[in-house]
Amino acid sequence: MPGGDPAPEVHVDTQRPGAARPAPSARAKPRAADKLAKLGLTRDLDLILHLPMRYEDETTLTPIDNLLPGQNAQVEGVVVASEVTFRPRRQWVVRVQQGEDELTLRFLNFYGSQQKQLAPGARVRVRGDVRGGFFGLEMVHPAYRVVEEGAPLPQSLTPVYPSTAGVSQAYLRQAIANALERTPLPEQLPPGILNDALGTSANGALPSLADAVRLLHNPPASAPQAALVERSHPAWLRIKFEELLAQQLSLKRAQAARRRVSAPRLPDVPRSDGLLARFEAALPFALTGAQQRVWREIRADLAAPHPMQRLLQGDVGSGKTIIAALAAAQTIDAGYQAAIMAPTEILAEQHLLKLSAWLAPLGARVVWLAGSLKARDKRAALAQVASGEAQLVIGTHAMIQDSVEFARLGLAVVDEQHRFGVAQRLALRGKIATTSDAGSAVPHQLMMSATPIPRTLAMTYYADLDVSLIDELPPGRVPVLTKIVSDARREEVVARVRAAALAGRQVYWVCPLIEESEALQLQTAIDTHQQLIAALPELRVGLVHGRLPPADKAAVMEAFSRGALHLLVATTVIEVGVDVPNASLMVVEHAERFGLAQLHQLRGRVGRGQAESVCVLMYATPLSLTAKARLQTMRETADGFEIARRDLEIRGPGEFLGARQSGAAMLRFVDLVEDAWLIEPARQAAEALLRDDPVGVSAHLERWLGAREAFLSA
Ligand code: ADP
Ligand code: MG
Repeated sequence: MPGGDPAPEVHVDTQRPGAARPAPSARAKPRAADKLAKLGLTRDLDLILHLPMRYEDETTLTPIDNLLPGQNAQVEGVVVASEVTFRPRRQWVVRVQQGEDELTLRFLNFYGSQQKQLAPGARVRVRGDVRGGFFGLEMVHPAYRVVEEGAPLPQSLTPVYPSTAGVSQAYLRQAIANALERTPLPEQLPPGILNDALGTSANGALPSLADAVRLLHNPPASAPQAALVERSHPAWLRIKFEELLAQQLSLKRAQAARRRVSAPRLPDVPRSDGLLARFEAALPFALTGAQQRVWREIRADLAAPHPMQRLLQGDVGSGKTIIAALAAAQTIDAGYQAAIMAPTEILAEQHLLKLSAWLAPLGARVVWLAGSLKARDKRAALAQVASGEAQLVIGTHAMIQDSVEFARLGLAVVDEQHRFGVAQRLALRGKIATTSDAGSAVPHQLMMSATPIPRTLAMTYYADLDVSLIDELPPGRVPVLTKIVSDARREEVVARVRAAALAGRQVYWVCPLIEESEALQLQTAIDTHQQLIAALPELRVGLVHGRLPPADKAAVMEAFSRGALHLLVATTVIEVGVDVPNASLMVVEHAERFGLAQLHQLRGRVGRGQAESVCVLMYATPLSLTAKARLQTMRETADGFEIARRDLEIRGPGEFLGARQSGAAMLRFVDLVEDAWLIEPARQAAEALLRDDPVGVSAHLERWLGAREAFLSA
């Protein structure tokens, strides 16, 4: 057991808040104060807002002969026996008597000091889950407290706080009680703001902050425990609303600060002889309504005097690339450089091919910048970027980490930004802001993501970004037919691949994800490739995986793109952004190992052309319930938002978005799924407060975030 403290569940204290309260100045030992600081509890306010995770009910006693197995109960009795036995393993067995009745306590871990406390004759209150044992009813590892006969029962539920080893519950309770005692919590929000935001139904229903925290730290025995534990009690709603309000205020402030920074002006009135005008006249297809709308939003942002920070969301295949190309053209027309970055070389290379095909014939100078370039080529590319000769620079994110200097960077596009956590996003943002020589102006930034996130999440996670949405697929797409097939039918699947390939269509075969071992995953891909070559001798079969040298990777992708390969065996490196319209069949092996978002991304590689496309999800038995739910979702819907919504349900928001995003780091109490309905009211209240009450804004942020705010909006 870590630390010198016994298990935190063991109550050996006799002081409780509500009982004889020691002087408020009860001084912490410095060591304990350090530990509190580690929990982030430095101010009294931090302690006050350190709210219980749950409660224990020590307000009642149950007679031993009323106990039922399965019940959680507190009983009082006198220790009549205490012995350490060794069968079936070392354990300490205590028998507690109450009148005629006895209860057995069983401890598998214990200290000598505990044995001394619970020596025969000691009166003890124990609380735990009752179960039927060999010698009658028993409790395993109950919490206990040695008491005097007739000691009063607590009048309120006992809070249990989040803690770390070394800070006992008793210590936390005392520190919090002291903080509550000496800290007045005057109402800081203008009266009515809560009711306005939450509607009249909540009129008067929410307690003041002071009442809410007092209740949560010290709930009367009559308080509805379920509502406290589920955090649906009005006191919790008050807390959550305040927390969300602080988060929205903080993010909105960061956004406002951004508007005070200047950016390159990229006028949105295209010159008739300019790149943009000529590109728009020569577009390879008509933009969808949704593409036109987001393009209007983005071109207006680029023309504004402060840096754009816009997230362009659009489902797989919705056509985000052309929007990036248009934005690049507007940038180049104004005499600035544009950069497009992708998370993998495969994807970056695809962008290079596509954007070069669109823009180079119109005279744009496009430069490729990737880690795999030979030193000499890289030097040449860097020189063109630095001199300003390169107008459009395409590469991986490595581009921005390297010692790249742009002459006049006007726009940075980050594709598939959902692959990056907030730390990377901020680092990138910082680097973009300083990498250009364009005076003090900060380049515009466009982030593109194919992980559609529900609106409520977008509002909290990305409240510091503007969001554009492409909610429509290009016309003529035939929906992908999804089949779920047991891998016992692998031969049939292989036969199907042969038939499709011989009919002139191209096929992806996605190898299983093996999270534990990259080496194993690689080996599996190589083996699968060999097996499929043997099984399909009449086909040309390629292999692409993450460990392939970039030049080989590019060569394989290029061969597949131009139709020289029938079948491409691949690891998830093809998950992101690969675009080969003639590929219309995809087989995913061990589909049960993939997450929903990943399957959706993978499936998005087919259904890009006119041919009817099929995605075969092969699974191995036994299937877990969640894996089954995932596969069914894939069969039932192709809508990225619907899939995201279900994914959120299955996994919860933390995992859903991968690395924690800045917005969520501010939320301790709000559950983004359960409490989604509170977000919009909090956002509206934040707007009202920012408009009408700047002093209130500062006070609220100070109360909720204290020193953390500077860090979070960095
Ligand atoms: P994603 O949003 O996943 O990055 P892409 O930009 O790769 O999607 O576009 C997917 C495919 O659809 C590409 O082949 C692209 O050229 C094509 N496309 C995009 N917009 C349209 C459109 N308006 N009409 C027809 N095809 C389009
Ligand atoms: Mg894309």
